[in-house]
Amino acid sequence: MKTIVITGSASGIGAATAQHYSAAGCRVIGIDLRGADIEADLSCASGRDKAISEVLQRSNGHIDSLICCAGLGGNHPPALVASVNYFGVTVLLDGLFEALRASGGNAVVVASVAATQGNWDGHPLREAFLAGNEEQARTLATDAGHGMLAYAASKHAIVCHIRAQSKIWGEAGVRLNAVAPGAVETPLLQQSMDDPLIGKATRDFLPPLGRRAQPAEIAQVIAFLASDAAVYVHGSLLVADGGIDAMSRPQRF
Ligand code: NAD
Repeated sequence: MKTIVITGSASGIGAATAQHYSAAGCRVIGIDLRGADIEADLSCASGRDKAISEVLQRSNGHIDSLICCAGLGGNHPPALVASVNYFGVTVLLDGLFEALRASGGNAVVVASVAATQGNWDGHPLREAFLAGNEEQARTLATDAGHGMLAYAASKHAIVCHIRAQSKIWGEAGVRLNAVAPGAVETPLLQQSMDDPLIGKATRDFLPPLGRRAQPAEIAQVIAFLASDAAVYVHGSLLVADGGIDAMSRPQRF
């Protein structure tokens, strides 16, 4: 039986992914703030340590897939967004790497189409993320103002991190990929729709496909990347956004 570890398993895309794997007869170990097998706060070092040690204990050090879904939208305090969306992912990837290697496993990180928008080249916030400097990233994220900037920067940086890890992880036989959803009907999107600053724009916007995604539709993309059908896919960002990225920058990819 395969062991699948899913962060953010209590809601939205993470819950749909947990459902997908449970229905397929896999053993799911969910991590979330509440309502999960392991209740841990991925915004801080002690919570990440707790999550890693409990996963290693429950899995006997063998994991087939790690799916990182936990995340916060841009309506949350920017420093918190930086901590959860970037360091809550990289620390888990590092901490569970050996357990993935032991099974010839793989990891999939849920980024966002926001990762592909804007130009972050040389931006101090991106550099702080990539340097692994959480304190500086939190300060710069706060200085940037609205949490949407921290959100986009954290998602862009996590994709950069995955690409930078592709050699080490590939040589270890552990595939590492990311998914970039667009607008998915979850509590996170609803919070953005209710936000006084970005709510109207979020509500009014529809992707080229003419509708927002359902969480289960993104779970299927995640499951594909984690499956043997994607055995040669590594270091990739799979955009599953109903056409938002293609529409917004048709000549850049
Ligand atoms: P969601 O709010 O439904 O689920 C996110 C989960 O993460 C929640 O269960 C929450 O409790 C958990 N979480 C948040 N902070 C945490 C912490 N400190 N420690 C542990 N768990 C924590 O949101 P969702 O839309 O399913 O989001 C899943 C991922 O998809 C996120 O990374 C998000 O950025 C990304 N994403 C979502 C959309 C969208 O439109 N919904 C679009 C692009 C990307």
